[in-house]
Amino acid sequence: MTDCIFCEIVKGEIPKDFVYKDANIVAFDDIHPVAKVHVLFIPKVHVDAFENLQEDDVLMSVRRGIQKIVEQNELVGKGYKILVNGGGGQVINHLHFHLIGPTGLHTPVK
Ligand code: 5GP
Ligand code: ZN
Repeated sequence: MTDCIFCEIVKGEIPKDFVYKDANIVAFDDIHPVAKVHVLFIPKVHVDAFENLQEDDVLMSVRRGIQKIVEQNELVGKGYKILVNGGGGQVINHLHFHLIGPTGLHTPVK
């Protein structure tokens, strides 16, 4: 996929400190955080939207990665949100999972 900023990040063409990484995904801090913890988890392969995700492995990796970052940042009990774009309404057309916290219960994040 050309002209995809997240593909460039995966390939290392845009330097980024990964806070989590495995065979299927990488994760890094959002450039415009809306909470103390705002991490994006993205598949290494370009997938344009959630409904087009073919790989169950990506979901397993995201689950593990989110678990790790939640524990590292002591978000358990404080509340956090996981936001996933789909259907083409996103700014960047490379599937990404936002982990945002602490949010408290039922607190709007933006
Ligand atoms: P969305 O597509 O989910 O509506 O918005 C894209 C998200 O990616 C935004 O939260 C934005 O701040 C973040 N973002 C866009 N470009 C970059 C970038 O180059 N680096 C990082 N770390 N985050 C980015
Ligand atoms: Zn991409």
